[in-house]
Amino acid sequence: MTDRKIALVTGGSRGIGLCCAKELAAAGCDIIINDICAQEQAQPALDEIKALGVNAYFYSFDVSNFEAVGENVSKMIENHGKIDVLINNAGITKDGLFVRMLPEQWEKVININLNSVYCVSHHVIKHMMKARQGSIVNMASIVGVYGNPGQANYSASKAGIIGLTKTLSKEFGSRNIRVNAVAPGFIKTPMTEGLDAEKIAQYISLRRLGETEDVAKTVKFLALDADYVTGQVIEVDGGLTI
Ligand code: NAP
Repeated sequence: MTDRKIALVTGGSRGIGLCCAKELAAAGCDIIINDICAQEQAQPALDEIKALGVNAYFYSFDVSNFEAVGENVSKMIENHGKIDVLINNAGITKDGLFVRMLPEQWEKVININLNSVYCVSHHVIKHMMKARQGSIVNMASIVGVYGNPGQANYSASKAGIIGLTKTLSKEFGSRNIRVNAVAPGFIKTPMTEGLDAEKIAQYISLRRLGETEDVAKTVKFLALDADYVTGQVIEVDGGLTI
């Protein structure tokens, strides 16, 4: 077993998740990335992380499948001994106006964005409790705080994550486990590719969309540095919502 901290990042093969994994690797953590894709597709991400001088591992499973998460977390503990840091990052959108929103559109987003945080945290936190230490950072969104037309499913999932973050911080604080959330605004990733960046930038104090690094630096701060911070939601939105 390594002396380094081990961080598990869900949805970590691209976008914000990969950037968080690299930021934590640069800070000296060994990294486990999860994604729903095959090993082959995650290999470039693994190579990028390993190039930072740490160990990197990949586990393919659906974060919203309670049994699959349980089996994979058990394998991780068997193979690597511990999980010090958990970044619940995996997420999707299936936008549409509420009156036209189909049950499957609602359920899929709630499952993958919110139920997944229950599934992964439930299995990982048992091991953090035994270790009497741990840090969890959940990926929320500003729309979970302020709402957004056309994103009833997504904003409800992210608001749920915020409630869950606060409750877990209270339930597990006495075990030295911190639970925080980051609420990004508009960040340049495949998820926001279709948006009119120039138009949106007019409403942002810093006049630009965020980079994945902007989120990853805040995630790293909460995960590794902020020893006396728990139950907090930090908005990383360039001043969009003030
Ligand atoms: P992204 O580029 O689409 O990455 C999401 C990752 O999650 C992908 O690697 C995806 O895998 C993975 N994933 C999806 N379903 C999964 C499942 N069932 N099990 C395991 N992994 C799964 O999105 P992103 O923009 O980086 O977003 C990352 C997080 O930040 C999300 O929670 C998102 O809601 C949040 N966020 C993003 C923004 C933004 O502006 N981009 C703003 C606020 C919050 P595949 O590639 O295999 O599908």
